[in-house]
Amino acid sequence: MDLNYTDAEKNFRDEVRNWLRENLPESLSNKVRKHLRLTKEDYNQWHHLLIQKGWLCWHWPVEHGGAGWSPVEKHIFEEEMIAAGAPRIVPFGPNMLGPVLIKFGSKEHQQKYLPRILMAEDWWAQGYSEPGAGSDLASLKTTAVRDGDHYVVNGQKTWTTLGHHANMMFLLVRTNPDARKPQEGISFLLVDMSSPGIEVRPIVTLDGEHEVNEVWLTDVRVPVENLVGNENEGWTYAKYLLTYERTGIAGVGYSKQMLAHLKAIAKREQKNGGPLLDDPRFAGQLAEVEIDLMAMDMFNLRVVSAAGAGQAPGPESSLLKIKGTMVRQAISDLMRKAVGPYASPFIPEAFDDGYNEAPVGPEDAMPLAKQYFNLRKLSIYGGSNEIQKNIVSKAMLGL
Ligand SMILES: Cc1cc2nc3c(=O)[nH]c(=O)nc-3n(C[C@H](O)[C@H](O)[C@H](O)COP(=O)(O)OP(=O)(O)OC[C@H]3O[C@@H](n4cnc5c(N)ncnc54)[C@H](O)[C@@H]3O)c2cc1C
Repeated sequence: MDLNYTDAEKNFRDEVRNWLRENLPESLSNKVRKHLRLTKEDYNQWHHLLIQKGWLCWHWPVEHGGAGWSPVEKHIFEEEMIAAGAPRIVPFGPNMLGPVLIKFGSKEHQQKYLPRILMAEDWWAQGYSEPGAGSDLASLKTTAVRDGDHYVVNGQKTWTTLGHHANMMFLLVRTNPDARKPQEGISFLLVDMSSPGIEVRPIVTLDGEHEVNEVWLTDVRVPVENLVGNENEGWTYAKYLLTYERTGIAGVGYSKQMLAHLKAIAKREQKNGGPLLDDPRFAGQLAEVEIDLMAMDMFNLRVVSAAGAGQAPGPESSLLKIKGTMVRQAISDLMRKAVGPYASPFIPEAFDDGYNEAPVGPEDAMPLAKQYFNLRKLSIYGGSNEIQKNIVSKAMLGL
């Protein structure tokens, strides 16, 4: 297995790099690098620049408006986006619903919704989790009862990322409460967020941010034509979507960026002594995460290369998710430790664009506590790390 890029792949990397250099606005990359808050308008600006290049839904098949790249090209694109400080593409339409509609949607759904996702005309939210139905998603309780040519939906969704920006939501609902197995009574609905009976309430997380929400649904009428695929077969579509959610969740590119930042901090002279890197205990901890990251980078490339040769990733994606998120969390922990008390002053307004107060300590120390808290989510969402370990043990050890 050759893990080096071919000349064609290097050319592709240069094309992406050059395009990003010329088109990614500094106002956006500056916000990403400084961990400032990204507004809905920031995301929209970035999405529309990508649309002009045909790169918003890059992983879709060409016939639906995708880029038709190989797995290696997709990997290169993701790495370059992160290295350039680009905002992430909000995944719910392009990365999650799009592939489901392409595989399972009717012609009418494809014609109606895919072009709107391609042009970022809809902002989708993911309505899967409920209080009491996260890891055990199939136990979800939100009901949809048929009434003429509508479903009447009642229930509560939670952790809905950026749901306060969304005008559309894909929703898992229970349509057959008497099914033999809980998975058999679930359907997949497309819901207009402006329908009467929907209320979106903010959840403020550990880092003081409003990124996730609760969504309450009371007697919400959803046209029957908004059912994806067949009634009671939504679990199949839901699982297919989750394989896309986990793609790239290892975040090797993000870890590389963070490690470079950590090293820069550790090399700085401290007020009361030499650089932190001279402390053998700290140097040892740093070396440990770097070695883990290098091993994961290789493993990731092996998975990408195997995908290029036509092999579907199996439990490897769970291994990447577990290790990738652990490494990112370990680096954020070391960064927080490296700046010591300067990570403490936690000023929520400091993450608004235009905040001009002088930072307490080095400027790059300010976001580290916030980043540390924010990244606790990595081992929970996209299927918690414990659940991924269950998947790995089942697949590899037959347990
Ligand atoms: C920041 C963030 C954003 C999110 N965004 C969305 C979104 O947009 N849409 C959406 O639908 N959902 C979203 N989620 C929800 C996410 O998918 C769930 O949090 C996740 O599936 C875990 O479910 P839970 O929170 O109910 O925890 P639980 O399932 O209650 O788990 C609690 C703990 O028990 C462990 N555990 C549970 N079952 C097992 C088991 N069988 N074996 C071993 N350990 C187990 C878990 O690993 C975890 O540590 C988001 C979550 C977060 C944190």
